[in-house]
Amino acid sequence: MRKQIAAANWKMNLTWQQGKQLLEEILAADISLRKDQLAIFGVPAPYLGLAEGIVSPRPQYAIAAQNCYDKKSGAFTGEIAAGMLQSIGINYCIIGHSERREYFGESNQMLAEKLDRCLENSVVPIFCCGEALQVREAGTQNEFVEKQLEESLFHLTAEQLKSVVIAYEPIWAIGTGKTASTDQAQEMHACVREVLARKYSAAVASEISILYGGSVKAGNAKDLFGCPDVDGGLVGGASLVASDFIAIIRALK
Ligand code: PEP
Repeated sequence: MRKQIAAANWKMNLTWQQGKQLLEEILAADISLRKDQLAIFGVPAPYLGLAEGIVSPRPQYAIAAQNCYDKKSGAFTGEIAAGMLQSIGINYCIIGHSERREYFGESNQMLAEKLDRCLENSVVPIFCCGEALQVREAGTQNEFVEKQLEESLFHLTAEQLKSVVIAYEPIWAIGTGKTASTDQAQEMHACVREVLARKYSAAVASEISILYGGSVKAGNAKDLFGCPDVDGGLVGGASLVASDFIAIIRALK
């Protein structure tokens, strides 16, 4: 089922005490979410089990890892396997965030492997794609994102694809305060859906949640989420402030 999702990405921020307080404040707002709406918190790895313990009584709330490794297990000191996430009840994992692509050299091919590890372990990948400013300025963003999808997702079966959440995050809008306009967001989301429809089918494409990420704030979430092909957001900075993220969850359609 295509879900409307507000996903937080805490990145490498907050102590556990601060994170716990943030989670508790957000849960205390007691936002009633429909079955097709979700609030997901991408927390730092050391907090995964603790955070899961806090949200688990609330069915529409979930915890996500921010990354996992592309191998099943073995001598990879410091890495986290998708199977380990599943074993502690973590059902979501952000994959291919632009910061991981840029600072840790993650390629489309490596991300294809990570998607496989997640899906083998029933962990829903939140797959990030999106272009840099130079690509947007050259006007080749559609082709660029299409290639990311092709190289990381197109080996999946239609059934597998239905378990993937896609986050379109133009890099020029991440942490910059520069949000894509609703027209720019809708145009790219429609393009992503069209690419999926061409490869799979319109029916499959219509079931995929496509989130927008890039300076989503309390003040612009409603307009962005109101676009027909935008199914919520992946939120960095504004997810660290309880009142802001509460407003963002409430902005889900
Ligand atoms: C992100 O980290 O994925 C993100 C979109 O960050 P911000 O909301 O701060 O732009």
